[in-house]
Parts: sequence; structure tokens; C-alpha cells
Amino acid sequence: MSVFKPSRRWQPRFYPFKRESFGKRFREKIEIMVKGPVWGCRMCGNCLLQETAFICCMECPKGLRNGPCGGVTPDGHCYVDSTRRCVWHAIFNRALKMKREEMLLEVLPPLDWNRTGTETWADVIRQIGITGPGRFFGSLFPGNREYKKQVWDSVFRTVRQPAWWNGDSDYHPASYREPASELERSLREGRFVVATEVTPPISSDSGKLKNDIGLVRPYVQAVNFTDASSAIPKMSALACCRAAIDLNAEPVYQIAARDSTRISLQGDAIGAGEFGIRNILCVTGDSPVVGPPPTGNMNIYDLDSVQMLWILRRMRDEGIYLDGRKMKHPPKYFLGAATTPCALDPVLQAIRDQKKVNAGAQFFQTNIIFEAERLDPWLEQLDRRNVLGKVSILAGLAPLKSYKAALYLHERVPGVYLPEKILGRMERAGDGAREEGISIVLELIASLKQKKGISGIHLMSLGWEDVVGRIVRESGLENK
Ligand code: SF4
Ligand code: SF4
Repeated sequence: MSVFKPSRRWQPRFYPFKRESFGKRFREKIEIMVKGPVWGCRMCGNCLLQETAFICCMECPKGLRNGPCGGVTPDGHCYVDSTRRCVWHAIFNRALKMKREEMLLEVLPPLDWNRTGTETWADVIRQIGITGPGRFFGSLFPGNREYKKQVWDSVFRTVRQPAWWNGDSDYHPASYREPASELERSLREGRFVVATEVTPPISSDSGKLKNDIGLVRPYVQAVNFTDASSAIPKMSALACCRAAIDLNAEPVYQIAARDSTRISLQGDAIGAGEFGIRNILCVTGDSPVVGPPPTGNMNIYDLDSVQMLWILRRMRDEGIYLDGRKMKHPPKYFLGAATTPCALDPVLQAIRDQKKVNAGAQFFQTNIIFEAERLDPWLEQLDRRNVLGKVSILAGLAPLKSYKAALYLHERVPGVYLPEKILGRMERAGDGAREEGISIVLELIASLKQKKGISGIHLMSLGWEDVVGRIVRESGLENK
């Protein structure tokens, strides 16, 4: 039971994979005896406490190490296990109170599984020796904040940022000049773009998939293919993207961290290039808890979306794999990320999104929104952080088919909130619900077109692909 952990939840610790020497095992015991009760330490082998406002992030069921997913409930609870508070929500809030929020921007590494379960104090002690024990212990007393930060960084940065990762808090613009995809070209030209989503089929018959791609293709700049959304198995996004290319449509290949490993991600990203796929969207992915039973592993993903972006950006711009091997012919792609502008406090959400942009996100596709004004505080925060000019934002919209669908989205889909006025309109619409759903989307598009910082829309048709053409025509976005 920890003292500083918000949920005071015990989760089992990690153990080393191989037998360690007596000295190491002894130090492990001491470390867990101290850090277990105080921070609920799980012995991940790569301590980040200094960057996470002294709350251990390894309580997150997804094992996220770079900030919250989009599933935080409005009262700060975790959607995977609603009996606990979202640990990242607590970290962000405490970091704000301690004025350590800028430290949340540093892109932190995935676990080195050769180190999980092992002690980290020997590394810390070694670094204190290099920095100078006098300087380090002197910095524990109140004094110059900047000096303290420098001394602590000289000790802890080396420990938390291994050479194979070398993460930082800086913005890294893409190193190429010519647009990687037509979507990127349209955005650079300042066009208000439309992307849509075609639902991957649940069987190996691709007839409907191809028909749907054909329906939306004349109206949009790009078509997203989700990676087992809602943790339900469907045709792979890679196969759907290939089908889109064959039909002359530009795909956005979504990769979910949930089903990826650091090895599969790098291989898939290179393979995607071979198929001509140039847009990749990195998402954390819905927890298996929302999918059908039997429920898959709900504990620890190999990577999070920020780490995916960092790895892919370095492959493209620096021509290196995660392990440091050089590539002769680096891949070329336009990198995107998902964001949920209404899930967190806008100040916290903007920090999270700035981190994604720093890591490599060039475009954002937002979760479904139903109030254009709700984006304003978030856009203002992004503007303050000088992020708006560095990323193109496509606002997520969905035409509602019925009041039941509206309630389902509001109550069951993490990060989606429908205001009372929209729920009321859908309820009153009765048999005309579909028309009302289309009117709501058209009104939203009209407001979004005027908004500084919004570069287009991402129309999620939720299986209603034949409405896309009508919405694009009626909103005046055809051939834009
Ligand atoms: S970040 Fe890792 S080492 Fe640090 S307290 Fe948490 S589990 Fe322990
Ligand atoms: S899974 Fe998402 S909501 Fe739950 S603790 Fe982790 S970041 Fe928070």
C-alpha cells in the first residue's frame, strides 16, 4: 500500500528474468522495501518518478509512460477499471501544482525488459559519484531552482534516458521537403481537407469494403482504416489500406499500440511503404476490456503512442532503428496521432498534445466532437504553447443515426461527450433522427471552417459510408 500513489492500489511487482548476483538481489530487496510502500513501486527497472511528479505511472493498466490515454472519465477515473483514479490524471494535476508541468514534455522510453525487476539505485549512486556527492546533497536544501534542476538532471537523466532512446522535450521538425502524401500536400496548400473512415469488414469478403471505398473516394482526401477499434477483431488495417491503394484512394494506416510491439511496429512501417501507404496514424488503442470476451491482457502495452511516433520519426528522419542500426533507405511517411480535446482539462491536454507533436505528430485527428466551442479553450492552450503552426488538426465528426446511438456514444465510448442540447435534439427528432444527425454535422462544419487552427474534418461515418458524399456536397467542401 503506497503513501504517494493516488489510488493506493497494489499491483504485483516485476521480477528479473534471470538469476541476479547476491549483491544485486540484496539491493533489489532494499529498493522495493523503500519504494514499494512509498510509491507502490513495481520495479520496472527504469524509474521515471522525477519526471512524473513523484507518482509512479506503472499503475496505469496500459503501462503508459508518456501521459494519459483518451479514456480518462470527466471525474478523473480510469475507463479500464472505473474503481481507480487515472494515475496520469493525478500526475498531470500534481505536476501543475508543483510547477513541474514542463517536465511532462520529455519523451520517455519504453521498458527495457532485460532490466525489469532489477534495481536502479546502483546507477543512481554511480551518477551521484560522477556529479559530486557534495553538489547533489547540497541541492536537496532549498535554493536556486535552476541549479537544483541541473544537478538532479545530471544524476537522473542518464538513468531514465538510455542511449538507445535519448528522448528530450524539443520539437523536431520533419527533415524532408516534398510532401510525403497527397493529404500532406493538401494541408500544406491550406485546403480545408476531408478525411473519412471506412469500417474494415468482419469477414474475408472484401466486397463491401471496396464498395464503401468507391463511395467515399470522390469526396475525400484520405480514408482511415482503424486497427481493431473497440478491441474487436476485423480485417487488418494494412490489408484495407492495400485495397484502397488498388482503388486509387489515399489511405491513413492506423496502428494501435495495443497490438504492436517495438519489433512489429518498425517492420510494419517499412512494409507499409512498399504498398505505397504514406499516412500513418499512431494510436494507443482501446483496452481489451471494452472488447468481446474472453478479455485479452489488460496490463502493459509494449509501447505507447508517443513512443511509436518517436520511433517512426527517427526511422524516417535519422534513418535509424530503435536499436541504433542505420538504414540505407529510410521510409517516407506523414505521421499523425489521435487526440481527445474534451477528455482532460485543456491545460493538461495541450501539454499531452505538445508532447505528441514534439515526438513526431504532423497531423491530429480528434475524437468525435459535438460542440465546436468546446475546442476553443484547448486551441487557445495549444496556441500559447506555440503548437498550432506545427500540426494540422482535423476535427472528428460523426453523423448520428438515432437517439440510441447518441446515448451509446455518450455513455459507452471513452472520451466522447454529447451535450444535453444535442441529446435533446436527437430524442425529439424521432423518425427524422438521421436527418437531424446530418444537420448537426453540417452546423458543426460551418463553425469549424471559421476556426483558427482547424485544418479540416475527419468524418467518422460509423458504418454509414453513403452519407459522406451528401455531407461533403451540402457543406460546400466538394472539390475544395
Ligand atoms: S517508475 Fe518504475 S522504478 Fe520508479 S517507482 Fe515506478 S515502478 Fe518503481
Ligand atoms: S488506461 Fe488510460 S484512463 Fe486508465 S490509468 Fe491509464 S491513462 Fe488513465
